[in-house]
Amino acid sequence: MAWGGGFGHGGGVFGSHTSTANGLPFGGIPSELMAEATKLLATEEPRPASNLDFSPVPSAKEREPLSLWRLVRAYPRPLVTGSLLVILTSLVLQAGPKLTELAVDHGMLPGHRSLRVVAACALAYLGVSLTSVLLQRFQVDVTGLLAARVMHDLRVRVFTHFQRLSLNFFTEEKAGVLMSRMTSDIENLQQLLQDGISQFALQGLTMLVITAVLFSTSVVLATWTTLLVVPALVVLTLWFHRASERGYLISRDRIAGVLADLSESLYGIRVITAHNRQRRNIRNHRHVVGAYRDANLYTGRVAALYGPSTNMIGILGQALLLGIGGNLVREHRLSVGALIAFFLYLNRFFQPIQLLVQQYNSLQQGRSSITRLRELLEERPSVEESPGATSLAPIQGRIGFEHVTFGYDPSRPVLEDINLEIAPGETVAFVGPTGAGKSTLAKLANRFYDPTQGRVSIDGVDIRDVTLASLRRQIGVVPQEPFLFAGTIRSNVRFGRPEATDAEVDEALEVVGLADLLERRPRGADTVVHERGQTLSAGERQLLALARAFLARPRVLVLDEATSSLDLASETRVEHALDRLLEGRSAILIAHRLSTAQRADRIVVIEHGRISEIGAPGELLSRPGPYRVLYDAWLAAGGRDVSV
Ligand code: ATP
Repeated sequence: MAWGGGFGHGGGVFGSHTSTANGLPFGGIPSELMAEATKLLATEEPRPASNLDFSPVPSAKEREPLSLWRLVRAYPRPLVTGSLLVILTSLVLQAGPKLTELAVDHGMLPGHRSLRVVAACALAYLGVSLTSVLLQRFQVDVTGLLAARVMHDLRVRVFTHFQRLSLNFFTEEKAGVLMSRMTSDIENLQQLLQDGISQFALQGLTMLVITAVLFSTSVVLATWTTLLVVPALVVLTLWFHRASERGYLISRDRIAGVLADLSESLYGIRVITAHNRQRRNIRNHRHVVGAYRDANLYTGRVAALYGPSTNMIGILGQALLLGIGGNLVREHRLSVGALIAFFLYLNRFFQPIQLLVQQYNSLQQGRSSITRLRELLEERPSVEESPGATSLAPIQGRIGFEHVTFGYDPSRPVLEDINLEIAPGETVAFVGPTGAGKSTLAKLANRFYDPTQGRVSIDGVDIRDVTLASLRRQIGVVPQEPFLFAGTIRSNVRFGRPEATDAEVDEALEVVGLADLLERRPRGADTVVHERGQTLSAGERQLLALARAFLARPRVLVLDEATSSLDLASETRVEHALDRLLEGRSAILIAHRLSTAQRADRIVVIEHGRISEIGAPGELLSRPGPYRVLYDAWLAAGGRDVSV
């Protein structure tokens, strides 16, 4: 790819001092830095070529339900190393109190005073503490690496899944909600993997180790601990589990709401400003943000109750155990060192509980995020490639709609029993009142949707029997509102055929009549287009979309004419561009301007989801019928008379 070549091999961007060829606003490398840059490039490994292979049908592995375990087991080495480090750390961490017991009982008590024992214990204490610090450092390294790799895989998997889903999914789901899956949900998992799971395992293991040590230190005291402290902790933890799970589900839903509202406000800022909706918008956003705050306050309150309550149980328990333990020492059934060690361990027993509480929040977030991502990944495209699909051979362009019935909601048909055949090379214009089903019928031709009944064929082949890629390669679509991507005019035109040469792009721009416009811009076709083409006029955006279709050279073209009114000069330019574009191609033209419809070979009038009239433009105009009615209405509304 351009980036890999440019930076990886010292040519391209760095070598030539200019990047106008790439269309980037780049000033070149200052001469004093050039030597360093060249040195750096010499040591940099060339980037491997991308071997990405996209298939519209997910592989068996991609069909497996998402789970944390499936994600991490793809990396066995860091997984095993990380787990071993966690086990080792949890053992090493608990040596301290045992050493204290040794130092007290064998180095400090009357009759057993020994500086050597105390010094040896202190040195050993220092040694194990340092070892545990080192172990934890390695463990953080390893889990960080694991988390980074797993998150990369997951991001790519979710994005690939989006590329596979059908149009209906994106019209039904809010973009903001999908964005939150990619941002906050994936980040939750990242936190969980990086820190959460290992901490959870470490603290859980620590509790087990400590329980074992407590029993080995004093069975009596440990049994009292189990009777006095553990039941209260269990009840409290069960309550916390339920309350915080509820809280996190609500807060996840609400943050998705905040993001959805935000993205809609940003995309629709023009309309919002034009309609003076700012105040209402702010009120609405305050409402969703407020709901999110309430959810957070609730989870905060739950955590605030749980933490101090656990502390309280710990303090009460210790007070009672001090009495019981002191009595045991007095009766010589327990050594002083063992009592001190027991209390040190007991403190450490509560510490992991506190940490587990904190980690539990991130575990909850991670679990609900995984559930949402799993649901998202289980979403199946409504238009799926059939398992035996073959590649569509180069077509002539005969399109057939045979008894086609379709409804976005199958129980409410938008199109009913449509029968139409378009001959190779023929241009057919769809006209009719708004909402009649013109765009919907066109969307069936390249399988944006599948008919509920009947079939759509190309050169006699049912389009459900061919691969989606081979079908869409031969059917170009110019939508009503052409979408332009951030980049240059050139990269936008090249979108449908990335391998096209610069000369071919220039030819496409020339054909649609954009060449003179580009001459007036200092950077010509390398002019930067901002996101969604906001820096171009509506007519220019349309012409650009036509150039894009011209360059892709499809056999069949589906063109949804923009409804925005163009001035006469732009309209004439678009019409000339259309003439060139439609030459020798079969085309479906959804015409809102009847002046465009008049240029077609045949006109199909669609009303209420049915074809009400078909014929050549002259023929339809010459008789009283639906088209004549539409045409007269169009003239009365100021349309340009093109009947002669
Ligand atoms: P226009 O001239 O305004 O573009 P059209 O004839 O192209 O109109 P369509 O876009 O085909 O009309 O819509 C036909 C009907 O289907 C309309 O009633 C519309 O509300 C409905 N419709 C369109 N898209 C969807 C969708 N994604 N989900 C549900 N209903 C839809």
